[in-house]
Amino acid sequence: MKTTVDIDTLARKSILQLKGYTSARDDFRNPKAVLLDANESPFNNAFNRYPDPRQTDLKQKIANMKGLREDQIFLGNGSDEVIDLLMRVFCEPGKDSILTIKPTYGMYEVLASVNNIAVSSVSLTPEFAIDLNAIRMSIEGNTKLIFLCSPNNPTGNLLDANAIRSILNEFSGIVVIDEAYIDFARQPSWSTQLTEYPNLVIIQTFSKAWGLAGLRLGMCLAHEAIIGLLNKIKAPYNINSYTQSQVLQLLQEGQADIESNMLGILAERAWLARQLLRCSSVIEVFPSDANFLLVRFNHATPIYKKLLNLGIVVRNRSSEWLCTNCLRITVGTSEENQLLIKAIQQ
Ligand SMILES: *Cc1c(COP(=O)(O)O)cnc(C)c1O
Repeated sequence: MKTTVDIDTLARKSILQLKGYTSARDDFRNPKAVLLDANESPFNNAFNRYPDPRQTDLKQKIANMKGLREDQIFLGNGSDEVIDLLMRVFCEPGKDSILTIKPTYGMYEVLASVNNIAVSSVSLTPEFAIDLNAIRMSIEGNTKLIFLCSPNNPTGNLLDANAIRSILNEFSGIVVIDEAYIDFARQPSWSTQLTEYPNLVIIQTFSKAWGLAGLRLGMCLAHEAIIGLLNKIKAPYNINSYTQSQVLQLLQEGQADIESNMLGILAERAWLARQLLRCSSVIEVFPSDANFLLVRFNHATPIYKKLLNLGIVVRNRSSEWLCTNCLRITVGTSEENQLLIKAIQQ
């Protein structure tokens, strides 16, 4: 149990002192108002008005669904925007650093580079588990954020909860848990632990289990002080009105479909794993809590190229740390998965 997060020493001074952009509409929310404040076109075509900068309706719905308060939720243009903003809130370019595991999601390192932030990446064990002592040894005075992806991409496994708990307890910076694949996992989200750990930040997305990658909506769940800083530096209209209304509608009416699609993916994942293990070119199918499988082949790259020639695209992760001869395969529809297996057997 941690009682405080010292935002004033963790966040960048310039961000703490910044006065964010405000629009007249921040002060006034009345659908009948005559709106002559934002230089919009007055002619209604469904999109002539700027979107709600605070995404009030959508956040209310998400807060209900997750048992959180709205001030514990930030919405981003995909979770990639959230990752970028977290770095900009906490890391002074050229001075501070982040810590990641490896292998993991590539965007942490890319966005750190964009922001001129150093990255220290700590190897998982060959079984893809957290190496707690290696992480402890790699934390330095300027380490502000630790990114843990669970279930991890590209390995597919959940990271050990006790190891994560130790890091949350011991680290005086921010621990970011990327739960892009949590809906497919056997464990619940860490969001129930937010009151216990004010230095816990959770990232989720509508891009995977919710099937809305094209709408670009990511979530950050965290202590209200952290959410407040993200709100301060975001672009005022970062979530467009089409995305806000479509996601709201899905949350109101489409949850049963999402649930059944998700169960379908889990059944297909099990089928795909069994079929892959019967292929002579496959050495290992790693256990997965996500909607993809990491698969080790005897020779991955020739198989990757053969699949491409047959019009099947998977992700070649052979050159990633600990992933020699591995392809990452997303679970598709039953038809797609059958085509994949036939192609690999050829
Ligand atoms: C797919 C994925 C995301 C999602 O990014 P969006 O910008 O929300 O589409 C985030 N983190 C990880 C680890 C992912 O694999």
